[in-house]
Amino acid sequence: MGKIKMTTPLVEMDGDEMMRILWKIIKDELLFPFIDLKTEYYDLGLEHRNETDDRVTFESAEATKKYGVAVKCATITPNAARMTEYDLKEMWKSPNGTIRAILDGTVFRTPIPVKCIEPCVKNWKKPITIARHAYGDVYKASEMKIPCAGKAELVFTDENGNETRELIHNFKSAGIIQGQHNIEQSIESFARSCFNYAIDTKQDLWFASKDTISKKYDHTFKDIFNEIYETEYADRFKALGIEYFYTLIDDAVARVMKSEGGYIWACKNYDGDVMSDMISSAFGSLAMMTSVLVSPDGYYEYEAAHGTVQRHYYKHLKGEETSTNSVATIFAWTGALRKRGELDANPELVHFADCLEKACIETIESGKMTKDLALITTIPNPVVLNSENFIKTVRENLKKML
Ligand code: NAP
Ligand code: MG
Repeated sequence: MGKIKMTTPLVEMDGDEMMRILWKIIKDELLFPFIDLKTEYYDLGLEHRNETDDRVTFESAEATKKYGVAVKCATITPNAARMTEYDLKEMWKSPNGTIRAILDGTVFRTPIPVKCIEPCVKNWKKPITIARHAYGDVYKASEMKIPCAGKAELVFTDENGNETRELIHNFKSAGIIQGQHNIEQSIESFARSCFNYAIDTKQDLWFASKDTISKKYDHTFKDIFNEIYETEYADRFKALGIEYFYTLIDDAVARVMKSEGGYIWACKNYDGDVMSDMISSAFGSLAMMTSVLVSPDGYYEYEAAHGTVQRHYYKHLKGEETSTNSVATIFAWTGALRKRGELDANPELVHFADCLEKACIETIESGKMTKDLALITTIPNPVVLNSENFIKTVRENLKKML
C-alpha cells in the first residue's frame, strides 16, 4: 500500500518534556509509515522559545492563519522555577494564551469515550463537550475592599466626558466590591465559534447564564446568542436537525445531570472553568479528552488538554520506565489530519484519522492500556503497557485496519 498523500501542510507546534518525547514516537510509529506527512514545523519547546524571544510562538499562530489547521504538543508555561531550570531571559507568557489571543477563539473540550471506563454519572451515554468563553468577566475584574461606610458607584465616562452612574451600594460599614466587563465583539465571536462547532459536529448547542438576575450583563450574552442564531444559523441548524437552546445556568446543570450527553454546552468564562473540570473528572481522565481551539474565522488548533507531564519526564531522564498516556496527543493529530482531509477533499486522510482513533480505542478496550487508565478501568487485570509499547500496540491494531 502506498503512503497517503497530503496537499496542504499542517502547522506543527512541538512542545516540552514527556509529551515532546511521545510526540516523536507518535510520528515515527503512527504517522510516517502511513502518510507522506506534510507539516510546517515550529519548535515551541521552551529552549527555542527563549532563543527566539518567543517569536516562534507568534510565527506559529500566524502560520495557522495561513494554512487553517494546526496541531500542538503540550508546552511549559514558565514560572519562577522554570526561569532557573532553563536559564530564561524572561518569564515568557503561556503559548496557549498567546495563540488564543492571535486566533481569537473558543476552546472545545470533549471526553474520549471507551467502554471500559465508565462515567461517574451512570446515564451519560455520549460525551458532553464544554465550550468555554475565554475572555473577561471575573478573570478581568477590578476589585476593592471597602474599609468603612460610604457610597460605591459604577461610573462610565464616554469619549466626550459625559458620565453615566449606577449605584452599587450605600455601605453602612466595611465591605467589598467588584467591577466586571466583557466586550460585545468577544461575545459575538464566542457565539459564532459555538454555532460553527455545533454544525461541524452535528450536535445540539446549549447555552446558559443567569439573565433573570443579571438583567443587563448576562442578558446581553443571551441576546447576542439569540440574534446571531436567528440571523445567521437557524436555517442550517434546522437543515441538519440540530437544536440551539438557551436556559438558566442552574436549570442547565440539572438537565446535564439527567441527560444522556451528546451535545455542546457553551459556558461563560467562570462557568466553563468550573464545569469543564467537573465534566472531565466525571468522565475519567484529562488524558482521555480532546481539545480544539476554533476561531471565528475558521482556523483550528488541536492539542491535548493535559500538560507536559513533568513528573514522568524526570523519571524518563533517570532512565526509569514511564507509562504515560498518549491518547489525547494522538487525537490532537487525528483531529488535525481529519480537518485537513475535509478541507482538502482528501477522503483517504479522513479515513486514516478515523482508523487511528479506532485503533487507540480498541487497544484500550482489549485490556491493553497505560497505568493511569489501568487504575480506573472496569476490566479486571488489565495489561499495563509502558509509554512506547502502548503506541506500538496501537500501531499493530492500526495496520490490521488499513
Ligand atoms: P500535567 O502535565 O497535566 O500532569 C499532572 C499529572 O497528571 C501528572 O503528573 C500525571 O499524574 C497526570 N497526567 C497528566 N497527563 C497525563 C498523561 N498523558 N498520562 C498519564 N498521566 C497524566 O500537569 P503539570 O505536571 O502540573 O504541569 C506540567 C507542565 O505542563 C507545566 O509546566 C505546565 O505549565 C504545563 N501545562 C501545559 C498545558 C498545555 O500546553 N496545554 C496545559 C497544562 C499544563 P501522576 O504523576 O500521578 O502519574
Ligand atoms: Mg480551572
